[in-house]
Amino acid sequence: MIASPARLDWSGNKRRNPKAVNHWMRGRRLLCHICSKKTFLCDDTGAPCHKVCAEAVQQRWGGESR
Ligand SMILES: [Zn+2]
Repeated sequence: MIASPARLDWSGNKRRNPKAVNHWMRGRRLLCHICSKKTFLCDDTGAPCHKVCAEAVQQRWGGESR
C-alpha cells in the first residue's frame, strides 16, 4: 500500500497547529538545501528549503513524525 503524499502544514497557523513553526524567512532568499534553488521558506530546523522539497524528503523517510 502506498501512502498518500505527505502534506506539511507550513501556514504557521497556531490555531490550527499549536506546534506551527514560522517557515517564512521574511523575504530573504536563500538556496534550498535539497534542490539548490532559491526559496523564501525554511524547514523545521531553520534551513532554507521549499515546502515541496521537504514533503518529498518526508515521504522518502516514511512520512511519520515521532
Ligand atoms: Zn527546493
